[in-house]
Amino acid sequence: MTAIADIPLRGRATRDRPLADLTWLRVGGPADWLIQPADADDLAGFLAALGPDVPVFPMGVGSNLIVRDGGIAGVVIRLGRGFNDIRIEGDLVIAGAAALDAHVAIKAAEAGRDLTFLRTIPGSIGGALRMNAGCYGSYVADHVVSARVIDRDGRARVLGRGDIAFAYRTTDLPPDTIVTEVTFRADAGAPVMLSAKMADQIAKRDATQPTRDRSAGSTFRNPAGFSSTGRADDTHELKAWKVIDDAGMRGATRGGAQMSWMHSNFLINAGGATADDLESLGEEVRKRVFETQGIALEWEIMRVGMKRRDGSG
Ligand SMILES: Cc1cc2nc3c(=O)[nH]c(=O)nc-3n(C[C@H](O)[C@H](O)[C@H](O)COP(=O)(O)OP(=O)(O)OC[C@H]3O[C@@H](n4cnc5c(N)ncnc54)[C@H](O)[C@@H]3O)c2cc1C
Repeated sequence: MTAIADIPLRGRATRDRPLADLTWLRVGGPADWLIQPADADDLAGFLAALGPDVPVFPMGVGSNLIVRDGGIAGVVIRLGRGFNDIRIEGDLVIAGAAALDAHVAIKAAEAGRDLTFLRTIPGSIGGALRMNAGCYGSYVADHVVSARVIDRDGRARVLGRGDIAFAYRTTDLPPDTIVTEVTFRADAGAPVMLSAKMADQIAKRDATQPTRDRSAGSTFRNPAGFSSTGRADDTHELKAWKVIDDAGMRGATRGGAQMSWMHSNFLINAGGATADDLESLGEEVRKRVFETQGIALEWEIMRVGMKRRDGSG
């Protein structure tokens, strides 16, 4: 099997590349290899030549990730310039997986198409599809027509909306399948109205969330099965911030990690936090919420990689 360093690639391959600066929380160890393919063909060729035992992790802009301090074994794929294109064709918005959600929302709005819900989500389109990102009542799942993906073995496929199972903040895409492009269908809207709607959303976020701190957004999913009617269902009406408050964990700290005073479901790097500080504080919150209310909070932030390089973590 060809060594990773010898696999032909038009893009860039970097060995032992620290990942902290590629994440919103600014923590985490290195990737054995960071691969930044030039385009989809380059990526497909690389994956086809890569030994099947090497783990592959696709990374967006790291706005929903804690990369652990020991880093990520194997290959991390990060899409860049060759995957940034955004096109509007009638009511379709076609975006490369590395395009930022905010740029897609703005470009769509300028063309009179409403994907405004993406404006304040700080991720990339690949991460948005994988996570079924959403806010203000709209989710990626509501708009997806199709997605271009490349499987772990290098096979390129087009998935229709019905080929992907979407659920609250997740999909059933295999974790090593790489999204390269997504086609959305978007309603029409007057650009000036869409622009005003996005400005409102930004103001609302800034007033309620620590948008200037280093975070990865909501730390825990809103607990399933709690609706205002008391019925067991999937409405997620009980808010994670409320149960964290009730457990007395707003403002709790560990090392440089803190549960934000402004929004208690935001775990922030208040300065000098390690990935271990952040994850341990999150686990402490889960424990306290379970002890006080019997609710098992589920992480929304993905934690990836190894705690320590000796594999003991
Ligand atoms: C301040 C703040 C506010 C946020 N608000 C929201 C919100 O309102 N709603 C919401 O849904 N989320 C929110 N988030 C979370 C986050 O922005 C989303 O989950 C986003 O979709 C993640 O995209 P990313 O590119 O950063 O992905 P990453 O964090 O890099 O990765 C997340 C997951 O997506 C996968 N992934 C990334 N790119 C690809 C790709 N090309 N192909 C296949 N898989 C890929 C990764 O493997 C990983 O499993 C917020 C985060 C922050 C920091």
